[in-house]
Amino acid sequence: MTDFPPPRPALPCPFEKRFPSQLLRDDTFYMTLAYNQAIDAWRADEVPIGAVIELGGEVIASAHNQRDSTRDPTAHAEILALGQAARALGDWRLNEATLYVTKEPCPMCSGATLMARVRRVVYAVSDPKMGCLGGATDLNALPQINHHLLLTRGILEAECLALIQGYFQLKRRQE
Ligand SMILES: [Zn+2]
Repeated sequence: MTDFPPPRPALPCPFEKRFPSQLLRDDTFYMTLAYNQAIDAWRADEVPIGAVIELGGEVIASAHNQRDSTRDPTAHAEILALGQAARALGDWRLNEATLYVTKEPCPMCSGATLMARVRRVVYAVSDPKMGCLGGATDLNALPQINHHLLLTRGILEAECLALIQGYFQLKRRQE
């Protein structure tokens, strides 16, 4: 039996959720919902990354990073959202769906997104260290794969970046 360290007190989140108009359902609207998921992650003392999946104008999945609470290295926002979306549709193929995520997907999540044949990915913040949709490398550019996704970057970038940077700044101060 492994002893886990005692839970640290959660850092209060100084950022507020946003309430976009329901009338204009553009990329910023869906990314704002992903941003709100990221705030939920922070409030649960997780690295603030959120994701939503849209299909036909409806949100069919929304999730945030739960790596620490579940102690599961695969519990990234995108993986959780992809699973929710597939269960909602009763199909692992998400080829009409768009994934919105506040940070560029890592190798695992980029791979899962391609394997789910997601039509389009929109992310806010590029990740030059681990991002695999253009930041560090680009799995979508592999010449042999037969599914390529459409990509949009930089939606709500400043807001999502401020959230992630703010979280780590407070974290460092706490340590
Ligand atoms: Zn990931």
